[in-house]
Amino acid sequence: MILVTQPFLPPEEEYLKYIQGIWKRNWLTNMGPLASQLEMELKEHLNVNNLLFVTNGTVAIQMAIKALELSGEIITTPFSFVATTSSIVWEGCTPVFVDIDLKSLNIDAQKIEAAITEKTSAILATHVYGNPCDVEKIEKIAKKHNLKVIYDAAHAFGVEINGKSIFEYGDVSTCSLHATKLYHSVEGGLIVTSNSELLKKMASIRNFGISGFDSFSELGLNGKNSEFHAAMGLVNLKYINQIHEKRKTLADLYDKKLKNLRAVKPVWHNKSQQNYAYYPLVLENEELLLKIKGDLDKQEIFTRRYFYPSLASALPYLPKLELDFTDDISKRVLCLPLYYDLTLEEVELISRIIIGIQNN
Ligand SMILES: *Cc1c(COP(=O)(O)O)cnc(C)c1O
Repeated sequence: MILVTQPFLPPEEEYLKYIQGIWKRNWLTNMGPLASQLEMELKEHLNVNNLLFVTNGTVAIQMAIKALELSGEIITTPFSFVATTSSIVWEGCTPVFVDIDLKSLNIDAQKIEAAITEKTSAILATHVYGNPCDVEKIEKIAKKHNLKVIYDAAHAFGVEINGKSIFEYGDVSTCSLHATKLYHSVEGGLIVTSNSELLKKMASIRNFGISGFDSFSELGLNGKNSEFHAAMGLVNLKYINQIHEKRKTLADLYDKKLKNLRAVKPVWHNKSQQNYAYYPLVLENEELLLKIKGDLDKQEIFTRRYFYPSLASALPYLPKLELDFTDDISKRVLCLPLYYDLTLEEVELISRIIIGIQNN
């Protein structure tokens, strides 16, 4: 059996060393020394000034919306994980979906302005598969219309544009450190902003809005993360280059073996490099996708229709909206297995089966 993804696990002893420290200190959560150390090491690794380690990537988005005091409508992409949209609704705002760009598969920045109304307060866009959005164009639009920008950068750990972290763009960027992601702390999330005041506010929101022994500064929630999760984050960070190299080798092999497949890959931002978080393919048509997925399923090789269906048509708490490119792409996109423990032989096998299905 080959799963579409498997979490990276470091050598057990290395994790246990950190756990012994936790036992000595008996400090389990609430911004403990390991959580602080992880924030420091991540700031250095990502080359960003302001970063918070939080419960998960979903709470990170909700905290960003709350801290920026957004209301009314938020322009967003229907081609993302459900948490991007549900966070908007959870915070009492209305998502306004804009169709995606057929090449990058990110929100089409050209179509954002037409969706702006007097109720629009922000743009919340996802760097899909780690591929940066058109951040320059989005920034221009936001400035012109006085809108805030949040990037759901859950897929974009380690991605840079022109040598600058992708997390530095927009008012706030959020990331997920969930076990299935490229880099993880079992469960976890990150918030990055270049605005230090905003960071302070989000740090307070993370801790129930408590500002002193008996005072509160704002409406908060519990967005903290534990020492056990921080420990996993610290150990895994030591392996990040190895993880990246391995994923690149596997993805390059897929590229080579699947070059005759009737499919295309997302067109990458021209000033950025891939982080190999996923291996997405847009197949020629849905029929070919279903044939490939069905046959692989039978052989216990699991792929994922990610993202399918469109968030603009699938959520029971929102009106249904058809969007040409999103509906088309979501029916044809398939992510192939890609994870650290996958072998080159397995990639060859999967590729051979896929090409066989196409040609048969
Ligand atoms: C994984 C993911 C999230 C949610 O992150 P969690 O840490 O699981 O809460 C949000 N957005 C996108 C695009 C994701 O892939």
